Amino acid sequence: MNYSVLARKWRPKSLQEMVGQEHILTIIANSIQQNRLHHAYLFCGTRGVGKTTLARIFTKCLNCEAGPTATPCNQCTTCLQIDKGIYPDLIEIDAASRTKVEDTRELLDNVQYAPTSGKYKVYLIDEVHMLSGHSFNALLKTLEEPPEHVKFLLATTDPHKLPVTVLSRCLKLSLKMLTISQISAHLATVLNAENISFEPAALLEIAQAAQGSMRDGLSLLDQAIAFCDNTITLEHVSALLGTETKYLNILLLELLIDKDNEKIFPLIQSMEEKDCDFIRATDDLLDLLHHIALYQKNPRLISKDDTRLLEAIPRLSKKLSAEDVQLLYQIGLSGKRDLPYAPTLRVGFEMLILRALDFYPLNFASEKKTLTFTKEGVELSEISPTPPLQREGKQERTKAVAPLTPEAWPTIVSQLNLKGITLTLANQASIGKMLNHRLELSLSERHRSLCNEKQQQLLAEAITEYVGHPVLLSFSFISQDAPVETQELKKDTTIKKEVTADISKDSNLQQLLEMFDADIHNTTNKKG
Ligand SMILES: [Zn+2]
Repeated sequence: MNYSVLARKWRPKSLQEMVGQEHILTIIANSIQQNRLHHAYLFCGTRGVGKTTLARIFTKCLNCEAGPTATPCNQCTTCLQIDKGIYPDLIEIDAASRTKVEDTRELLDNVQYAPTSGKYKVYLIDEVHMLSGHSFNALLKTLEEPPEHVKFLLATTDPHKLPVTVLSRCLKLSLKMLTISQISAHLATVLNAENISFEPAALLEIAQAAQGSMRDGLSLLDQAIAFCDNTITLEHVSALLGTETKYLNILLLELLIDKDNEKIFPLIQSMEEKDCDFIRATDDLLDLLHHIALYQKNPRLISKDDTRLLEAIPRLSKKLSAEDVQLLYQIGLSGKRDLPYAPTLRVGFEMLILRALDFYPLNFASEKKTLTFTKEGVELSEISPTPPLQREGKQERTKAVAPLTPEAWPTIVSQLNLKGITLTLANQASIGKMLNHRLELSLSERHRSLCNEKQQQLLAEAITEYVGHPVLLSFSFISQDAPVETQELKKDTTIKKEVTADISKDSNLQQLLEMFDADIHNTTNKKG
C-alpha cells in the first residue's frame, strides 16, 4: 500500500466528511438549500484547515448533476471530475504564482462565456492576498457585476492583506484551526480504516505537532507509518518528532519537588545521551512553571490543548506554593542566562538544578530563618527550637551578624552597580520586610511608575548577584514618601535651620528686622 498519499486519499468528499468547521458547513448547506447564493465567497484560515477542500466540495454542491444540493452524489461525471481535478468549469488559480495583472485579465476575459457543462463556472483563487494591486482592480470590476453563471471562491491565509473593496464584495467564511482532539480523533479513524494499530498517546503527540492543520497531521502520520514497524507508538513518534525530552520537564520538576537526588542526576545523564538540547530543556522547565503559576491564579488561564500538561499541572500546583514557583522560575531564568558561560550546557543545566535543590522550598517547615546582609554578603541565620549543641555543623557556619537595618539600604544600593531608572528606583525604595529569600521593598505611591516589570527584574538580578543566590523581590506602596526621601527632607530642613540661624546673626539684617518689625520666613520650595 502506498502510504504517502493519506492526505489525498482521506480528503473529504462531502460537507459531512469535513472535520470541524461546523459553523461554516451550516452556512453553506443553508445557502444552497434556500437558494440564497452569494456570487463571491472568501475562505479564510491558516494552512491545512481545509479551505480549498471546502471550496471544491462547494463546487460539487453547485454543479452535481443531482443538484444544486448540500449532499452531492459523488458518483456523477461532474462529482468524479471535480475529485480528480479535471472538471472544466472549475478554474483553479494559485495567486502566489500568478500575481501579474496580465494573468488576471487573461483569466477574467473568459468570465463572460457560459460554463462548458455545469450550471456554474467556478473560479477558485487560492492565496488571493498575493495578487498585485492592479490585479485586484481588474478583479474588482468583475466582482462588482459578475454574470449569473459565475461564482468566485477566494481562499487566503491572510485576509488583512486584501483591499477593503474586495472584502466588502465577498461573504467571508473564517475556518478555525483544528483542535488536538479533532485531529487525533480523525487520525484514529484513518488508522482503524487502514488496519494499523496505534497507541492513543502517539496520535495526541502527532496532533499537537500538527498545530491545527489536518493536512500536516496526516503528513506526519504518513511518516510515522513509515517509521514504525507494526504499531504506531509514542516512543517512535517522539523520536520521529524530536520530542523525546519534551515532557521530561514534568518528571524533572517532580523529582526536584521530592528532592530525589537518586533519580534526578541519572535523568539528566539520560537527557544528554538522548542528545537533549539543554537550552530547550530549560525553556520547557520555565514554560511548565509559567503554566503552574497561571493555573494557581486561575485554572481557566491555561491552554486546554496539551493533555499531558493538563494532567500534570493541577498535581504540581498543589505541591508548590506560589512563592516557590516564583523562586524556581527565577533560578531557571538566571540559570538560562548563565548557560552559555558554563563549561558545557549540561554542566550549566546541572548547576541550575543543584541551585534549585539547595534553595527550594522557601517555606522552611520547622526552622525560622532570617536573611541578613553584611559587608561580605549575606548570612542565613537560624532561630531553631533545637538546642544549639545538637546543631553542630550548621551552628558553626552561622555567624552572629547584625540584622540589616533600613539605614544599610543606601550603602547596599551604592554597591549594586545600578544605572538609570533602576538606580532611581532603588534610591527611592526602602526595606520593608525581609524573610528567608524574600525581600519586600517599600516605595512611595508617587514613584509607582518607576516600578515596572523590567526595572523590578533588573533590581532583583542585581540583588541576587550581590547576595549570591536568588532573592524574591516584591514591592509595597505607601502613600507617604519613602524613608530615604524623608531623610533627605530632614537633611534639607536642618540645613535651612542652620542657614536661618547664621543669617539671623547678621547685624545689618538685625537692624532691618527692627526697622520694619519683620520676621525671617523659610521658603517652602525644597530646592529654593
Ligand atoms: Zn454528483
